[in-house]
Amino acid sequence: MANNEFPSILISGASVAGPALAYWLVRYGFPVTIVERNAGGPRPGGQAIDVRGPALEVAERMGVLAEIRERAVRMRGMSMVDADGREVYRSEEQTLTGGDLSSPDVEILRDDLADTIMRAAGNGVEYVFGDSIASLDEHDGGVDVVFESGARRTFGVVVGADGLHSTTRRIAFGPEESFLNLLGTYLAVWTAPNFLGLDRWQVFHQVPDSDWGGGVMSVRDNTESRVYLGFQRETPLRYDFRDIAEQKKIMADEFAGKGWVIPQFLMHMWNAPDFHFDAMAQVRLDHWSRGRVVLLGDAGYCGSPLSGQGTSMALIGAYVLAGELHRAGGDHVRAFAEYEAKLRDFVKANQDLAYINKRRVEAELEGREDPDLPNFTEVVNSYTVEDY
Ligand SMILES: Cc1cc2nc3c(=O)[nH]c(=O)nc-3n(C[C@H](O)[C@H](O)[C@H](O)COP(=O)(O)OP(=O)(O)OC[C@H]3O[C@@H](n4cnc5c(N)ncnc54)[C@H](O)[C@@H]3O)c2cc1C
Repeated sequence: MANNEFPSILISGASVAGPALAYWLVRYGFPVTIVERNAGGPRPGGQAIDVRGPALEVAERMGVLAEIRERAVRMRGMSMVDADGREVYRSEEQTLTGGDLSSPDVEILRDDLADTIMRAAGNGVEYVFGDSIASLDEHDGGVDVVFESGARRTFGVVVGADGLHSTTRRIAFGPEESFLNLLGTYLAVWTAPNFLGLDRWQVFHQVPDSDWGGGVMSVRDNTESRVYLGFQRETPLRYDFRDIAEQKKIMADEFAGKGWVIPQFLMHMWNAPDFHFDAMAQVRLDHWSRGRVVLLGDAGYCGSPLSGQGTSMALIGAYVLAGELHRAGGDHVRAFAEYEAKLRDFVKANQDLAYINKRRVEAELEGREDPDLPNFTEVVNSYTVEDY
């Protein structure tokens, strides 16, 4: 039940962070609205992402852990192949995307996780699809929001959970160039038929010393597959983040003439229902809130796929932000300060994993140990879930 004493909350973005925050806020009695730019429902697509460490505990407290284990990709293993598709390496202990298969971590498609969380958040959340925040005007009583559709409403708090290229962040904090650190790699992911007949298996191909690579994994009971292709580029690419046709063209040009089954991947790309392309990048800000506006998940502290921790940070961030708003009785000033104080070190250490993972892979490829690398598991578990 909404509590009239509590500020109304507008969340921008219905992927992982936004609905997870809504889940908790509705239970604490806050009126919650989510605006999502994608029309007709949540955006499909994305690779299999990992939920691990304290994020598993958060998922358990949300009552969704059993479902996300059920919907997990549950890989049996992986192969590396050469340009002719011949297997050059094989493992049933680990995969490139999910790591050690015996760990308790859950590897699940991003859109399947988002769907589970949205359904768990329930009917108490108001959703507005196909719209976006256009301007924010803060005053003593709240934030006046004008939407791109022209609608105008006032909320007590606005949360930017709208990802790496967050509109909320741009409006409240400034242009993204000031906060984005590009990591020199671009990655595209899309759905294709499981034309290789993979059985809960992933196959990757990388030419040694080349600046590109890619792979495929069967998903959803082998009824389809997700293709991943990435390439390195030291100078930033200029493209429109919302122009999918332009992004597909970049991929087609980049991968023209490449071996293995890449021509088939590209053929399926043109009609893929869920193409996603982005730079691997991190977001680092001095503060995650400004007045009544606060950032959550990738919008505030994207770790990049290289960290492997973006989704877990989003789930933990949502739990802590909602918990602190509840504990502070809706006082956003106190809540935002606590949210940041409790998570900043954890977030920084997890973002740093992107660089550490890179060094670890380099050391493994060169057959040597790097004794100075922080322990991945310790970093992942360096936040202890509080009770709110
Ligand atoms: C389609 C898609 C594919 C992805 N693929 C991968 C992947 O392959 N590998 C990986 O590591 N991470 C991927 N991510 C990012 C990953 O989901 C996040 O790192 C992590 O789960 C944290 O999620 P988030 O909710 O903070 O942000 P995101 O998952 O990025 O979600 C942001 C949400 O905000 C919405 N949005 C954007 N702009 C606006 C706006 N102006 N108004 C309203 N809504 C807006 C987006 O449509 C999206 O639903 C993907 C995200 C998306 C949206």
